[in-house]
Amino acid sequence: MNHPAHPTSSFIDQVRTLLGPRGFTDDPELVEPWLTDWRGRFTGKTLGLASPASTDEVAALVRLCHEYHVPIVPQGGNSGMSGGATPDDSGTTLLLSMRRMDAIRSLDTKAREIVCDAGVVLQTLHDAVEMERLRFPLTLGGKGSATVGGLVSTNAGGTQVLRHGSMRAQVLGLEAVMADGSVLDTLTPLKKDNRGFDLKQLLIGSEGTLGIVTAATLRLLPEIGGRRVLWAGLGSIRQARELLLHCEAHAGDLLEGFEVVPRHSLAAVLDYLPDARSPLRGEHEWHALIELVVQEGADDRLDLVAQTLLESALEQDLLQDATIAANEHQAEQFWLLRESIAPAERAIGPAAQHDISVPVARMADFVTEAVPAVEARFPDHDAIAFGHLGDGNVHFHVLAPRGSDRAEWEASQAKEVSSFVYDLVTRYGGSISAEHGIGQVKVDELQRLGDPVALATMRAVKQALDPRGILNPGKLLPLASAPDSP
Ligand SMILES: Cc1cc2nc3c(=O)[nH]c(=O)nc-3n(C[C@H](O)[C@H](O)[C@H](O)COP(=O)(O)OP(=O)(O)OC[C@H]3O[C@@H](n4cnc5c(N)ncnc54)[C@H](O)[C@@H]3O)c2cc1C
Repeated sequence: MNHPAHPTSSFIDQVRTLLGPRGFTDDPELVEPWLTDWRGRFTGKTLGLASPASTDEVAALVRLCHEYHVPIVPQGGNSGMSGGATPDDSGTTLLLSMRRMDAIRSLDTKAREIVCDAGVVLQTLHDAVEMERLRFPLTLGGKGSATVGGLVSTNAGGTQVLRHGSMRAQVLGLEAVMADGSVLDTLTPLKKDNRGFDLKQLLIGSEGTLGIVTAATLRLLPEIGGRRVLWAGLGSIRQARELLLHCEAHAGDLLEGFEVVPRHSLAAVLDYLPDARSPLRGEHEWHALIELVVQEGADDRLDLVAQTLLESALEQDLLQDATIAANEHQAEQFWLLRESIAPAERAIGPAAQHDISVPVARMADFVTEAVPAVEARFPDHDAIAFGHLGDGNVHFHVLAPRGSDRAEWEASQAKEVSSFVYDLVTRYGGSISAEHGIGQVKVDELQRLGDPVALATMRAVKQALDPRGILNPGKLLPLASAPDSP
């Protein structure tokens, strides 16, 4: 590593004084749970866990780190999938938890805007706005842990991107502490603002490498008036694409989600969940989960739209069979099948997981080519694509041969499998990360496959905003040559 091996005890003393006993600990028992990433692939070491309680404290802490050249690893709920919030094993970085900054600063129900500290958990945000008959249109499986700061810093997606966009589209304003401890305040939302670069958009998705997000202003929508959840059985992924186009044309802006589930994944979930049943009787190669939503007062439209959508799709041979959830409980059951794919497959054994995207129009071709290509190149492996077809983003998982030893397979095969998949994705003009970010897990692959001009520009931005390289070094971009010495 290229950061100082032994920051002075004076640095630690100053951090203790600044943050007080609730704001800093180096007690191994308290720190240890935060040193391993969600998937358990990376474990690091740290000087200690800093938990500031205000933007002023974050700014003063970053100023100290800047002065002493101490690298910082920002962490929210630690639910990230790419190891971005896990320190390296040098033991010379400071782990900066944002979880104590968990206040909702303001909620303007008329303007439909909320200002949240970075540590507000997504589920808390949902609950708070629901009480005001509003909703925040982004959700994901890690909502009980993921924080606003983490969602912003990874530009998180989820199941509603089709209609509402990713986190980038929800952020109206941002407050962040920059690498020298100065505070960038763009919290006030402006519909029109042409004063040069959009710095909040630069920080969104920067994975803690350009600034520490301390608060965000987020857009809200009126609560929904009703939803219908549909389940369709399909013969192929190409049919799924045709059905998606049909849904977009027929349901327009009522279409909230369109997820695809292959036969293999549904079977895995039915094995995994003791009481689960397939929504349809017959066997189908593919399934589509479709959600239609209306605003309050327009609920009566839903049944008609759902019914005619399925009837016309059946007439045009765009599906084999379909059903509409009879009530909210059944709608939840349909979604549970979709949300249980990842844990059900984890229970089967190790897998190389890729959150990839290609142009929406090319996704069916990609899956049709990639699945047999991967299975031919890696015998006894199962390739599975599921998820957000409407966004051109699927989770492309390659399951190791049954009975494989996890550590052995990961050491011997997983990297080669991933490179093979990423090469195919790149050939389709796609992205090796549609949702989860680069973190530490994909740094090498981004360097290998990324556009050279884009990579050089990112390095130049990083150098300009963080010349000492103290913000989450080694994540997203490889470690730069040695930072300035103190
Ligand atoms: C069951 C499950 C389902 C998931 N489903 C989805 C999904 O559908 N779509 C999706 O996009 N993601 C998904 N995720 C991944 C994860 O929830 C998101 O990446 C989320 O945005 C991470 O938030 P966090 O607060 O846990 O961030 P962390 O994991 O703590 O950190 C993630 C990254 O952001 C940086 N960071 C965190 N907070 C800050 C801050 N305040 N300032 C600067 N940098 C910061 C970290 O350094 C790290 O690089 C899922 C996770 C789980 C466990």
